[in-house]
Amino acid sequence: MQHIKSQIRDIPDFPSPGILFKDLTPVIADPASLRRITTKLAEPFRQAGVTAVAGMEARGFIFGTLVAQELDVGFIPLRKPGKLPADTHTVAYELEYGATALEMHTDALAKNDHVLLIDDVLATGGTAAASCELVRKSGAAIAGCGFVIELDFLNGRKQLMPDTVHSLIHF
Ligand code: AMP
Repeated sequence: MQHIKSQIRDIPDFPSPGILFKDLTPVIADPASLRRITTKLAEPFRQAGVTAVAGMEARGFIFGTLVAQELDVGFIPLRKPGKLPADTHTVAYELEYGATALEMHTDALAKNDHVLLIDDVLATGGTAAASCELVRKSGAAIAGCGFVIELDFLNGRKQLMPDTVHSLIHF
C-alpha cells in the first residue's frame, strides 16, 4: 500500500480553492496497483454475505464495478440527478458549497439485499451517508462501506456509524 500511496497525486486548489484533490488516475493506470486495490477492497467483505455492490458517480463506478466482479455480485450505480432513465429514489444532501442529490433506480435492489458501498475517497462523509440512506430506501441493508482513501482529519466515518467502514489508505 505504501507504493500505491506514493502514486496518488496531490492537486492543490482543485476543484475549488483550499481543496487538496487526491488524484487516483496514476493508480488506476497501473495494472498491478489496480489489481491490488480491488483485492484489498473486497477482502474484509468476502464472508459478509454481500449480494450487490453500489458505487457513487463517478469514481465509485470504477472501483465499485471491479469489487463487484471480485465478489461475484452485480453493480448498482448511484447517479447525479436526471441521469438514470427509469423510476428513481432520491436523497438530497449538503456539500461544502450548496446542495446536491443522488439517485438510484427503484427496482435496483430488493429487501433481502446486503449491499457493499464503494467510493474512491471518504472526506466529510456526506456523500457516503446519503448513499447509505438511498440504499435503505429500497429496503436493502448496508453490509459495509469501502474506500480507497480516507481523509482522517475530516472524521467522515462518524457519519457512517454504526456501519462497518474499511479504508485502504489514510491521510
Ligand atoms: P464527502 O461527501 O465530503 O465525503 O466527499 C466525498 C466525495 O467527494 C467522493 O465521491 C470523492 O470522490 C470526492 N472528494 C472529496 N474530497 C476529495 C479530495 N480531497 N480528493 C478527491 N476527491 C474528493
